[in-house]
Amino acid sequence: MDMQIKAPLEKKDRPVLITGPCSAETEEQVMATAEQLANLNIEVDLFRAGIWKPRTRPNNFEGIGFEGLRWLRKVKDTYGFRVTTEVANTQHVFEALKIGIDVLWLGARTTVNPFSVQEIADALKGVDVPVFIKNPINPDLKLWMGAIERIYKAGITRIGLVHRGFSQYGHTIYRNVPQWQIPIELKQTFPDMMLICDASHICGSREHLFEVSQTALDLNYDGVMLESHIDPENAWSDAKQQVTPYQLQDQILSRLVARKTGQDDDNFLSNIEDLRARIDVIDKELIQQVANRMQIAEMIGSYKKQNNIAILQSSRWNEIFTKVMEQAGPLGLSEEFVSKFLKAIHQESIYHQEKIMRMESNQKVE
Ligand code: PEP
Ligand code: MN
Repeated sequence: MDMQIKAPLEKKDRPVLITGPCSAETEEQVMATAEQLANLNIEVDLFRAGIWKPRTRPNNFEGIGFEGLRWLRKVKDTYGFRVTTEVANTQHVFEALKIGIDVLWLGARTTVNPFSVQEIADALKGVDVPVFIKNPINPDLKLWMGAIERIYKAGITRIGLVHRGFSQYGHTIYRNVPQWQIPIELKQTFPDMMLICDASHICGSREHLFEVSQTALDLNYDGVMLESHIDPENAWSDAKQQVTPYQLQDQILSRLVARKTGQDDDNFLSNIEDLRARIDVIDKELIQQVANRMQIAEMIGSYKKQNNIAILQSSRWNEIFTKVMEQAGPLGLSEEFVSKFLKAIHQESIYHQEKIMRMESNQKVE
């Protein structure tokens, strides 16, 4: 499908900033957050607040509903910010447009469902409003593309992408793992489409917001979406990941380095710095995975200790070795390299297991 897509926001020679609370809770909370943002030394390109909240489990705050739209309108009239909210059905679209919301966004739980996306696309026919489309909750590039196509076919030409990471079973440092290769691949199909990193929903905590935002800029993203709240600790949703407007400025935005300024993305793939940034991301993930493997080795170590089993089990090692070597050839990796790599990892695992074996039995194994 040949698409002529325009940017939903003006591209700047600095990262675009979308910020505001996860949810609109009260008029005071929305206005106070906007006021503090307006008084800082930052430029807010779009003020966000969720009015209808898709919560994973019931009995949580599910959004303030229609009356919250009025508060967003007030933010727009008082501080001159353009405003945005998530829409998930026809009625949301109509109400948001009626009150003058400038930009709409589709959430991850909507993008995942073609029925919902189509319903919104139908509601948008004949309307000229910019729309951001978040990635679906599962790492399915085609589903994300499908949503873009449905919205575009409805006549919307100003479309942007928001990368908010992907659900994964099990514990990781992220709430939603970034899987950077997916938005990067999408960017290969749509080189000019505005791409924003929603570091807040990737991280799920305040801890890695800066680092994830910086990685996004290193990968040539156009900007960031970061949730900010006047009183994050007491937020009614996503309390752990929100920051105050001051923290947003001092701890994140002022430290971010934008590698390139004011350039089109035409050279995205040929640009050596982009390729290097992609390698850096992969290296980081590799080391994280090796560390995860060592943790499991330690658990095995503690099991062996309890049951008085020797660390080195040759038959198990031979089995691993043969299996991985078989995998190497078709992937274009030399036997010599894979053999060295595997032996080094195995040796490190043995050190980790030995460490456990040597521990006093009353010491806690982490
Ligand atoms: C949000 O932006 O507050 C939100 C609900 O995000 P997501 O759709 O990415 O989960
Ligand atoms: Mn949120």
